[in-house]
Amino acid sequence: MTRVRFFNNDRRLLPSRRLPKSMLPKVLTMSALLVSGLLASTNSALASGFNDAATLEKVAAAKAGTVAAVDQILPRQHRCSDSLMLRSAALSPAQEQAACAQLAAIEQRFHQLFQSAGKAVKHDHNRMLRANIYKSKQQYTEFAGEHFQMPTDNGGMYLEGLPDQPGNQAEFVAYQREQGQVWNLSHEFVHYLDGRFNLYGDFCANLHDSHSPPENCPTPAPDTPYLVWWTEGMAEYVAHGSDNPEALKLAAMPQFQLSELFHTGYEHNNGSDRIYRWGYLAARYLLEQQRPKVDEMLKLVRAGDYPRYQALVRSWGTSMDQDFSQWRQQLVASQPAASSTATNTAK
Ligand SMILES: [Zn+2]
Repeated sequence: MTRVRFFNNDRRLLPSRRLPKSMLPKVLTMSALLVSGLLASTNSALASGFNDAATLEKVAAAKAGTVAAVDQILPRQHRCSDSLMLRSAALSPAQEQAACAQLAAIEQRFHQLFQSAGKAVKHDHNRMLRANIYKSKQQYTEFAGEHFQMPTDNGGMYLEGLPDQPGNQAEFVAYQREQGQVWNLSHEFVHYLDGRFNLYGDFCANLHDSHSPPENCPTPAPDTPYLVWWTEGMAEYVAHGSDNPEALKLAAMPQFQLSELFHTGYEHNNGSDRIYRWGYLAARYLLEQQRPKVDEMLKLVRAGDYPRYQALVRSWGTSMDQDFSQWRQQLVASQPAASSTATNTAK
């Protein structure tokens, strides 16, 4: 996240970032993903936006410097499990249940993939993620900045915080769109799981080139290779599995070698297609075709040995490029009418 990238009006990408200690959490990005499990809403109250008298009163209070407390604006609390709490303005009970079920499935998939249940990295106290969901973009814009000390010119953020500090609370902050859906919920939840079970340390400890506010990670950034391809690509892979029509569309094009994708960053060598779709292809290829290499890599990043991770990736060099290219072509060829496959990706 350079903090916030606007590729178009609907797609705001925030790569992972961490807030300075004075501000709390770390922020991860959002790719433009729709959480299909939350689409069901027909509750008109959810779409009522920002025009009711109570909300206008709160806006006035905010302008007067007396912003309503987060619990007043987000009064609904629903505990999905020991690892997930929902706090919202207007999720219906059915939407809460749908979100819980969807994220429980994501959690199960993640732990099956990495055999990581019960095996958090050392010094990580983020036992639970709290998803804070405002009822509209307007409400989010008005209150989230005050409530979480974060920018709100985006589609939502994941704030990892300082996981080594007991009592730290990881927060996902987002809002419902017109039909009640919440963007990127699965993707952000994978960031939480990745940060807790795969990547040692907080956002600034991981390898990337983002040092803009609010995370303010120290400059200069380390040299590439980074972990952006993994962080964002793996989150897409776990969130969507093989159902990623946009990435499969790109897979037909010889735009990137695998060896190039390891150098993907948020500030340079970036772009939403490269970060999210090509990141997905890279992560999926490694996970499905080169698993021993992933396991070797995970041993290092779980221990926080990022210099050795970089040495490992450099040692791979271009050795997998040709195989990656062939795999992409096979993937495309195996898709029946891939271009018309239904998508759950928001545009
Ligand atoms: Zn992300």
